[in-house]
Amino acid sequence: MIDKSLIEDATAWRRHLHANPETAFEEKATSDFVAAKLAGFGIEVHRGLGDTGVVGTLKRGTSPAAVGLRADMDALFIHEENDVDYRSRVDGKMHACGHDGHTAMLLAAAGHLARKGEFDGTVRFIFQPAEETGDERCGGNAMVKEGLFDKFPVDAIFGLHNFPNIPAGQFLMRTGPMLASIDTFEFHILSRLSHPAAQYAVPDPLLTASRIVQDMHNFKARYLNPAEPVVLSITQFRSGDPSHRQGVHVTPDIAIVRGTLYTLNDAVRDAFATGLEKIVRHAAEAAGAGHKFQFERGYPVLRNTPEEMKLAAGVAQEIVGRPHVDAAMQPIMGAEDFAFMLGKVPGCYVFLSSGRPGEEAAPRPLHNPRYDFNDEIIPTGVRYWTTLAERYLKQAVARGR
Ligand SMILES: [Zn+2]
Ligand SMILES: [Zn+2]
Repeated sequence: MIDKSLIEDATAWRRHLHANPETAFEEKATSDFVAAKLAGFGIEVHRGLGDTGVVGTLKRGTSPAAVGLRADMDALFIHEENDVDYRSRVDGKMHACGHDGHTAMLLAAAGHLARKGEFDGTVRFIFQPAEETGDERCGGNAMVKEGLFDKFPVDAIFGLHNFPNIPAGQFLMRTGPMLASIDTFEFHILSRLSHPAAQYAVPDPLLTASRIVQDMHNFKARYLNPAEPVVLSITQFRSGDPSHRQGVHVTPDIAIVRGTLYTLNDAVRDAFATGLEKIVRHAAEAAGAGHKFQFERGYPVLRNTPEEMKLAAGVAQEIVGRPHVDAAMQPIMGAEDFAFMLGKVPGCYVFLSSGRPGEEAAPRPLHNPRYDFNDEIIPTGVRYWTTLAERYLKQAVARGR
């Protein structure tokens, strides 16, 4: 069992981290805090991977097997609207995704395993920066590229995220693709400023870009297998003089459009990367306008491996009971940079639900200024981590690893 005092400590750590949020690659005080706690438990600490990343290594016995448990530490650029005594002390920044809770739960698991863990092998506690960037410059990728798994090898890696959408105390996961890839794209349609009455003589970037936006949505509707889940969104469309000084009687010389793409299939990503470029090029050529197109790949599809998913589901069932574990959840079209780690080693990412009773009518979703990690799930999360690590290493020894 996990000591009650350790759970109380974890709750206090969570609130301390909540009050002191730090955003991508600036998690200096947070990583100091994490490193100090790990060292206090007698765990070997390595710092500096991905700038502010922290890796704790706990070895016991003689088995060469190693398992990695990962938490994320970064906050978001959101101004907190909660009125709690541990509310964010930093204007414009808050822990609105629960990474304060993820960090506190993994720290408590480290504390428990260091004091009372029954295992033969190595447990690595991986605290990563910058999960929220959405592009390849994220913390998970940074740690992997800087040699996380060469310097700290593991046979499998596991991740966990809180999930406030449904009442607390349930685990959700699946084998295979569970979360989407995220890519961003941007295109420019280039022309010259003109008089609206003489627009026929000059390509119209605004009209051309509008057509392209329609065609991009049509591409999804008519050129892809509809069984493939895809979310294409145009999120920015800028044209004309935003200062309004030019007034309404000047037609614009440029239209800039940006958007995002979420998919569960790499072939679909590739089809979009080439298809969208073609749509922009052809429409610009037809209009006689210039163009630029850029497709930037972000997080890959997050895929759980079958063996590790089975183990995670079994541990979850043991903790919350079989009816409270959905091991075949529908994939979610959001993205997670843990996918970079799962791209290198087998493993499993799970959701631990964290909704509060009575909030169904006015939910406080992730990335919301009124979101607050639900401390009630801390004991469940800590038990999941500690049981999972012990079980994984026990199975590895049984397999002769
Ligand atoms: Zn988030
Ligand atoms: Zn998150």
